[in-house]
Amino acid sequence: MLNFKSQIVTSFNENCYVIWCDKSKEAALVDPGGEPKKISQLIKPLNISITKILLTHGHIDHVGSAIFFSKLYNIPVIGPHIFDHFLLKNLFSQSRLFNISPAVNPFLPNQWLKDNDLIILGSIVLEVIYCPGHSPGHIAFWNAAKRCLISGDILFESSIGRTDLLGGDEKKIKYSLVQKIFPLFNKDNRDVTVLPGHGKKFLINQKYIHFIFKTYFSGV
Ligand SMILES: [Zn+2]
Ligand SMILES: [Zn+2]
Repeated sequence: MLNFKSQIVTSFNENCYVIWCDKSKEAALVDPGGEPKKISQLIKPLNISITKILLTHGHIDHVGSAIFFSKLYNIPVIGPHIFDHFLLKNLFSQSRLFNISPAVNPFLPNQWLKDNDLIILGSIVLEVIYCPGHSPGHIAFWNAAKRCLISGDILFESSIGRTDLLGGDEKKIKYSLVQKIFPLFNKDNRDVTVLPGHGKKFLINQKYIHFIFKTYFSGV
């Protein structure tokens, strides 16, 4: 089964997750946004082996220490979707824009991900859900066994992801939510646990979907 712990990093209060298979102890870091010391302290006592870095999208607060850990453990960086290529290439300007010093060097992942790709972590299967809108190449990771969604910045406890940042698109984020994310609940009417990129974890259920529609979709 999937286990996880999270660490808040950077001035953006980004949630970096370490997820692992309790049988094999194989683990992945999801969105290591910065402050590698804090993330290392989270990993240390867990007695797990980190084999990959997974990225939901190319914003600086989610990728800031990806290369640090990739080099430290000699492991690949996987994701996001190739449509976030431009964000990873312009990490210098993202650093400038958000006053991040030292600047984060541009990089490209070892592997891009696309809709329906599978990530295997010991006995854990993560399905890749391509859900653009917050950024053009945004993806989420879905673990059906535990009904758990690692959602990046597509939705939060009381809002949907912002679309005013580089490459954001309100129509697309709404389309992604309705076509890709809410059906995870609607298909069999069972709560989905969401591990978001910022803020507390929460559930997608009828009440949540109703709230989001009322708040963001009225008049559409
Ligand atoms: Zn973002
Ligand atoms: Zn973020």
